[in-house]
Amino acid sequence: MEHRAHPLVMATPGCHRQIDSEHYGPVGQGRKVYIQAALHADEIPAMLVATRLRKHLIELEKANRLQHEIVLVAVANPAGLGQFIMGASSGRFELGSGRNYNRNFPVPHREIAQSVEGALTHDASANLTLIRNAWLKSLSEWQPADEYASIQRTLMLLAHDADIVLDLHCSREAAMHLYTGEDVWEEVEPLSRYLGAEVSLLANDSQGYSFDEALCLLWSHLRSHFGARFPIPNGSVAVTIEHRGQRDVSYEIAEQDATAILDYLVHRGAIAGVANPLPPLRNPATPLAGSEQFYAPSAGILVHRVPAGRRVQAGDELFDIVDPLTGDVLTLTSKTSGVLYMRREIRFVRPGDPLGRVSGAVPIRTGKLLGA
Ligand SMILES: [Zn+2]
Repeated sequence: MEHRAHPLVMATPGCHRQIDSEHYGPVGQGRKVYIQAALHADEIPAMLVATRLRKHLIELEKANRLQHEIVLVAVANPAGLGQFIMGASSGRFELGSGRNYNRNFPVPHREIAQSVEGALTHDASANLTLIRNAWLKSLSEWQPADEYASIQRTLMLLAHDADIVLDLHCSREAAMHLYTGEDVWEEVEPLSRYLGAEVSLLANDSQGYSFDEALCLLWSHLRSHFGARFPIPNGSVAVTIEHRGQRDVSYEIAEQDATAILDYLVHRGAIAGVANPLPPLRNPATPLAGSEQFYAPSAGILVHRVPAGRRVQAGDELFDIVDPLTGDVLTLTSKTSGVLYMRREIRFVRPGDPLGRVSGAVPIRTGKLLGA
């Protein structure tokens, strides 16, 4: 294992932070897997999975089974991890600016298209290298204005040339689910099976530009740009994995999830060995645009009527909002048949607060598909 430290732009004088990356297997020899945890820094189940992965990677490296370089970043956001408000951790948004740490990663497809146009050929693998080099140049020239931007730049520099990128997160109260691009779903499907994901949400461009989306979307945009003129492969198969809810922190679950990820890497040939048989896909993938999002119409006590992970039918009652002054109950029902894959962890809501989401097979939303 090779350890590397990546200093971040100082937020305030004397505040030196860095991102630590661990590089296992054949470093810098071409094939690469990149795994990071807790870009949203208060998503601790992801971090525990990273510790289990480390344990296995050390053993696999000793046994000479790593065919590809595997990069592990167990703390992707040390700045967010240091944020607390009156004892409660708050790692999703940069508190100084309100920016979500997992939004608006740059997708410099126009700049890259311009710089590689004259050099592309009919050799898809040569085009892949050419585009990755152009992306590296673009990232290297990026002068991050602040700590937030330097986190984004550091993580993109580590991941942009990886064949597989796994971004480990969790939701509030949730079943195992994942987000990825439509263009790479076929390659992600075995991962969904190994993880036992209840829901796999697909969108090429949600307009949120999360980390996994930026890594896939650049290649999708370049394919659209060049059309039939030049073959452009999927540079990265990038996925956001939601390791259930924020309180689902246990050795048993973390080990189960780490094992599923390693099964997938064996299946993909990044780790030598015989892959475990693929379990069945629990549910077909659904469009992210098909997810129904529920919001509180009024203030009150939120009483969840359905546990996270439960399959629901249109018309099922999902949430009650109880007015504490009158006892009146307002019940929200699902318009969609699918899985209630996440719900909020709070128990008192104000008008407009999000409550939860149900997956659906038919697109019903347009515009920005990812929430704040
Ligand atoms: Zn997250």
